[in-house]
Formats: sequence, structure tokens, C-alpha cells
Amino acid sequence: MKWGRCLLGKVTTTPGSRQRGRILPPPKPEPFIGTRMTTLLLWDIDGTLTLSGGAGMRALQSALAREFGVDRSLADIDYAGRTDRHIVGQIFALCSIPDTPASRTRLLEGYLAELPAALHNPGTRVLPGIRELVPRLAARRDCALALLTGNIERGARIKLGHHGLSDYFHFGAFADDSPLRNELGPVALRRARERLGVEFAAERVFVIGDTPHDIECGKVIGARTVAVATGQYSREELERHAPAFCFTDFSDGAAFFRAVGLAE
Ligand SMILES: [Mg+2]
Repeated sequence: MKWGRCLLGKVTTTPGSRQRGRILPPPKPEPFIGTRMTTLLLWDIDGTLTLSGGAGMRALQSALAREFGVDRSLADIDYAGRTDRHIVGQIFALCSIPDTPASRTRLLEGYLAELPAALHNPGTRVLPGIRELVPRLAARRDCALALLTGNIERGARIKLGHHGLSDYFHFGAFADDSPLRNELGPVALRRARERLGVEFAAERVFVIGDTPHDIECGKVIGARTVAVATGQYSREELERHAPAFCFTDFSDGAAFFRAVGLAE
């Protein structure tokens, strides 16, 4: 199989990628055979798989203006590594909007409506190496890919779907499950058990992300942590939080396979 490449945001022939405006479906995975599957890779999205060029913030800002008549910058909100539900709480506090379930639904539904258009910006892209790594990993029968992300699931699917990557990840833990990232790891492990019938050994679970929050939430479940400096944190900053592995980016696929202990 030929692996596609992403050059300056132009995507070539990877299955699941956009090609002349169409999204090609990724190859159907082989049926999982529990006894052979030993490795679980839990992926963050923003700053790890893709960059959205501030689309999330702009979609929230538009939804805030449309739904609540509040027109203000949300640039000073702390987004990195936070869950969408945590961010909504910050926004309501900042704008003195009563934080009720109904208000949350209005803002998040507004956000989801605005997000697809907001993703059409020059800063949106798949991060280095991901177009090669993800299809290769998804085609293997000895490892499973899943999401461990602060996005609500529908937002995650929109962000990944924009790049044709959503179907590589069959399940995950999302902000829908908890506003606290550290509570998402156990949810991801439970979903893996339910979906795959596999109890992964802690040392064969890898939490992959771009912030200290990802490292922390991986350590909470005893997983090995893989940090990548393609988001807002430098490699030096991430290394201070002692991840098991730290990458500048994932362009060196062989190094990634070595880190997670999978033969190429
Ligand atoms: Mg991130």
C-alpha cells in the first residue's frame, strides 16, 4: 500500500484523506482478535493529531455572540489540555453568564454548528507524520487506536472528519464523559474492554498528547506517556513533566514504533 503524505497542508493519496474535495474512506479494519491485541494507543487531538488554527475558539466566540449576545474575545481562556466542558465553565464565569445545563447545551450546540465553517482556515492542518502513522497503526491487529481527548465527541468527529481521520478511531473517552481530563483515562480503558474484550496491561497502554495535562492523565491510569511538542508546549517544557517519551514531532515513524514497542 502507498502511504500518502501531507505537504504544506496538501494531502495526496492516503486512504481517508481529502482528494479533490472528496473524503475517501479508510480501509475497513480486520476484525479484532482479542488474544492478539496487546497495545492500546490513546490519542489526544488538538496539537497532537491536528491543528485547528483557532477554529474551536472562533466557533465558541460566534456561538456566544449568537446565543447570548455577548461579543468578546475568548483569547485569554486557557484551552490547552482542557476539556470542552471545563472551557465552557471558564467562558460563563468570564462573561457572567449563569452556568446552567440549558446554557451549556445552547453554547455547545452553537459551537458544533459553527465549527465546520471555522475549520476552513489556513492554520488547520494534520501534524507531521500523522498521515503516515495513523493508517499504519490502524491496519495492525496487535494494537488499537482510540481517542482520549478534551473535545466533546461530536466536536472531535467534526475536527478529525475535516481531515478524513475520524474513522481510524472507533471509540474513545471525551469531555462528554467528564469535565476533568484525569477522569477520562479510566473511561477509555473501560470502553476498550467493552469494545475489544481486551484488558490491556498498564505498560502496554500509551497516552499520547501535547500538554502536561495529557502526561498527568496518562500517569493517573499507570499508562506510559508519549509527549509531542507540536502544540503550545516546547519539548523542554514537556520534559519537565517526565513523560516516558518525548518527541519534537512524529515525522520519524520508526522512532515512534520503537517507543511504543511495536515491530515495524
Ligand atoms: Mg492537545
